[in-house]
Amino acid sequence: KKMIYAFTEGKGQGKELLGGKGANLAEMTSLNLPVPQGFTITTECCMNYLADEQFFENELKTEILKAVKTLEQETAKSFTASTNLLLVSVRSGAAFSMPGMMDTILNLGLNDERVQVFAKVTNLAFAYDCYRRLLQMYGDVVYGIPKDKFNQQLTAQEKKLSKTAIDFNQDEHIEVIKSYQDIYRNHHVSFPQDPIEQLFEATQAVFKSWLNPRADVYRKLNDIPDNLGTAVNIQAMVFGNSGDKSGTGVVFTRNPSTGEKQLFGEFLLNAQGEDVVAGIRTPLPIDALAEQLPEAYQAFVQYAEQLEQYYLDMQDIEFTIEQGRLFILQTRNGKRTAKAAVQIVLDLVSEGMISKEEALLRITPSLIEQLIHPVFETQALKETPILAEGLPASPGAATGTIVFTAEKAKGLANQGINVILVRQETSPEDIEGMIVSEAIVTSRGGMTSHAAVVARGMGTCCVAGCEALIVNEDLKEIQCGDITLTEGDILSVDGSSGRLYVGELPTVFEENNQSLQQLLTWADEVAHLKVRGNAETPQELAIALDFGATGIGLARTEHMFFGEERLLEMRRLILSQDDNEIETALSRLLQFQQADFYQMFKIIQDKPMVVRLLDPPMHEFLPHSPGEIKSLSQQLKRHPEEVAQHIAHLQETNPMLGHRGCRLGITQPLIYQMQVTALFNSVLQLSQEGIIIQPEIMIPLISEKAELLEIKTFLTATIDQIFETHQIDPIPYELGTMIELPRACLIADQLANEADFFSFGTNDLTQMTYGFSRDDIGKFITSYQEKHIMTSDPFQTLDQEGVGQLIKLAVKKARSIKPDLTIGVCGEVGGDPHSINFFHQIGIDYVSCSAYRIPAARLAVAQASL
Ligand code: ADP
Ligand code: MG
Ligand code: MG
Repeated sequence: KKMIYAFTEGKGQGKELLGGKGANLAEMTSLNLPVPQGFTITTECCMNYLADEQFFENELKTEILKAVKTLEQETAKSFTASTNLLLVSVRSGAAFSMPGMMDTILNLGLNDERVQVFAKVTNLAFAYDCYRRLLQMYGDVVYGIPKDKFNQQLTAQEKKLSKTAIDFNQDEHIEVIKSYQDIYRNHHVSFPQDPIEQLFEATQAVFKSWLNPRADVYRKLNDIPDNLGTAVNIQAMVFGNSGDKSGTGVVFTRNPSTGEKQLFGEFLLNAQGEDVVAGIRTPLPIDALAEQLPEAYQAFVQYAEQLEQYYLDMQDIEFTIEQGRLFILQTRNGKRTAKAAVQIVLDLVSEGMISKEEALLRITPSLIEQLIHPVFETQALKETPILAEGLPASPGAATGTIVFTAEKAKGLANQGINVILVRQETSPEDIEGMIVSEAIVTSRGGMTSHAAVVARGMGTCCVAGCEALIVNEDLKEIQCGDITLTEGDILSVDGSSGRLYVGELPTVFEENNQSLQQLLTWADEVAHLKVRGNAETPQELAIALDFGATGIGLARTEHMFFGEERLLEMRRLILSQDDNEIETALSRLLQFQQADFYQMFKIIQDKPMVVRLLDPPMHEFLPHSPGEIKSLSQQLKRHPEEVAQHIAHLQETNPMLGHRGCRLGITQPLIYQMQVTALFNSVLQLSQEGIIIQPEIMIPLISEKAELLEIKTFLTATIDQIFETHQIDPIPYELGTMIELPRACLIADQLANEADFFSFGTNDLTQMTYGFSRDDIGKFITSYQEKHIMTSDPFQTLDQEGVGQLIKLAVKKARSIKPDLTIGVCGEVGGDPHSINFFHQIGIDYVSCSAYRIPAARLAVAQASL
C-alpha cells in the first residue's frame, strides 16, 4: 500500500487518505498554482502507527527517506549538504478541518551549524529567527515544553542587552539558542541536530497529536469519527519573515460573516506562520497589500478566483510572500456564519456556479435556526452606553457572567449560569470553555483569530480584538477606561455589531432576512411535504405565517378558557349545580371564543387551520390552594367547604391518563358544542364580510371508533342546527381526529372511515408508547443518554423504531381505506430535521411545528425531497 504521495501525484486521492490539507495541496499543484513542493504521508500511516509504533521503524522510515531524496532532487536543496539547505515544514492535516487543533512545525532542518550557513546566504537576524521558532515549536510539539518558556528567554536577553533580536550579533544569537537548549535540558531531553532525525521525531509527534485532548474535544463537538487519523505534510519552506517584501496572510474569498463577495482577510509583513492568527502583532487588512506589494496582490486575486471556480465554494486561503514572490500554502472551504452561508449559496447560484438544488443541499437546517437568533432590543441599545467596541466576529446577542478561564466557564455553566468568556486571546486549549459560553470576548486578534473562527463555527456570539479592554487574567479583572469589571459582573455582548454593554439587555428576534427568504422560496418549490405552524393566539398565528407556514396544523383552544374572566366561567361550568348556571357560563364562554375564532380566521383566511377542541384534564382549570378556593366560592356565591369538596371529588390520580380530551367531550358534550357553535358563528360573521372559511375541526385523544362516532353525531347535529337557525346553505367543513394513542394507530383503518383527516400528535403518542411522562422525562433522560440506553430524547427526535413504526402502520391502514386522506404531524418532532425525513418517506402530507422552527423545517422538507 502506497504510504506517501508527492504533491505532484496526490490529485484525486481524496481527503480521507491525504487529509484536507494534503489533498488540496495536491489539487493546487495540479492546477499549477505556486505551491512549495512536498509530500504527504497518508492518514492510514497515522492509524497504523497509533496502533503499533513499530510500524514507523519497520516500514515508514524507508519510505520517508525515499520521499526526502526526491524532494531534495526536485528542489535542488539538501538536508545533508552544507550548501542549499533544505528546510521544511511538518504539517498535520486531517480529513475534516480542525483549525489549530493539531500541530505544525516550521523551519525544520536547521541546527547549530546549519543556521550559520543559512545566515550567510540570508541574513543573521532572519536565520536565527527561524531557528528560534524551530526550537520553540519542536519543543512544544515533540516534548510538550510550554512555548512561553522560550519567549521568556528571548525577552530576557533583549532586556539585558537593551536591543531587539534584530540587532543581535552572532554571539548574542548563539547565547539565546543556548538558553533555548538549556530549556530542553531542564526537561531532560535534547534537540536533535540531525535534520532527518528531527523529521522522524516531528512526524511521529504530529501523528500523536491526533490523540491530544483538545483535538478529541473538537471531534466530539463536530461529530468527527476518532478513527480517521491525520496525514502529515512535509513541505519545502518559503519565508515570509525574510524582509519587508515578504509576509504571510490568511484570506477568505468572501466575507465569512456576511457572505459579501470581497476578499476578506489579513496579512503581516515580515512574519511567519501563525503570527497572523496568534494575535501577537495586529495584522493589516488584505486590501492594504494592494499598495504594499501590488504584484503579489494581483497574483493572489487571480489565484483566489481560480480556486473558487475549481472548488465551487468560498475558500479560506493561507499564503506567504517571499521577497515579493507569492506562494499558496493552503486552501479549504472556508468556515462561515449562518448568514454568510445562505448569502454565499445564493450568490453562487446567480453566478452560475452551482444549481438551486445544490444550494439547498449545502445548508444544514440547524444553521437556519442560528439565523433566527436573538438580537438586543433597539430601544435598550439606544439607552445603554457602549462599554467598548471590538470586531463583530460572530453574530448573536448574549448576556452572562464574566469569567476569565475555560475552567471557570465550565464550572459555572454546569450550575446553569450563563457565562461570557473574556480573554486576551483564546487558544485551542480553551475549546471546552468556549463550547459552554454564551459569548466569547477577546481583547486581541482579528476576524480570523482562533476565537473568531471557532465561535463562528459553533454559532456562538463573539466579539474579538476589543482592544479597549485591558484584560488581566491573573487578577481576573477587566479595565476599560475608568470602569473596572471583575469575575461575576454581568456583561452583554452584541456579536453582530461588536459592541459590549455592562449589565443585562433584553433581546428580541431579528426580522426575517431577505436571502433566507429567497432560499426558502426555492425550498418550497421542490418540497413535497408542507410545513404548517402550531399556534393558538392571533399573534402566534401571524408569526407562523410570517415564517412561511402554509397553514396552521394545530390551533389548540386551551387558552380560550384561560384568563381571569374566562377561567371563572369555566369553573362555574365545571362546578355547576343547575342548568341556569351552565347556561350563563356557556353563553359567556361562547362570546369569548367566537371573538377569538373571528380574529384567527381573519388572519388565516383561505389557508387551512386545524382547530382542536378542548384537550386538557378538568383539574387544570380548578383552584387548589385554600385561598384560591375561598375567593372562587365568593365569586360563585357558594360555601367554601362545599366548593372544596366538589373539587376534591373531581380530583384524579393520573390526570394525563384521565378525564381529558374526547372523554371530556363525551361526558360534557355542551363544551364541545359551545366551541363548535362559537367557531361557526365566527365563520358566518366572516362570510358576511366576504371571507370564506372552510373549518377543520379536530377531536383529540380518540382510541375507539365509537368515541369518534358519538362526538361526530352530536357535533353534526349542532352544526346543522346552526345552518338551520341562520337559514343558510351548509358550509363545507371537515371533522378529523388526532392520532395520539397507540390503539388509534392500530385501528387507523376503522378511524379513517369516520374521519375527514388525521393528525399525529407525536407528543402524546411518544408518551403513551413509551409510557414516559413527557413532563417527567427530564428526571431520567440525561442518565439514559449517559448510559447509552437512549441516544436522543424521543420527544425531540422521533423514535423511528417504535413510535415511527406505529405511525407508518397507521398511515398504511388509513390510506387503504381513504387513499387521499390528508395526514399531518403536529408535535415537537414535526419541526425536527431528522424526523422530517422519515415523515417524508412514509407519505405524510404536512408537518406542523412551533413558529420559530418553521424556516428550518421548510429547508428540511426540501432536502427530504431532493
Ligand atoms: P494549521 O492547520 O494549524 O493551519 P498549517 O499546517 O497550515 O497549520 O501551518 C500554519 C502556518 O504555517 C501556515 O498558515 C503557514 O503560514 C505556515 N507554513 C506552513 N508550512 C509552510 C511552509 N512550507 N512555508 C512557509 N510557511 C509555512
Ligand atoms: Mg493552516
Ligand atoms: Mg395530545
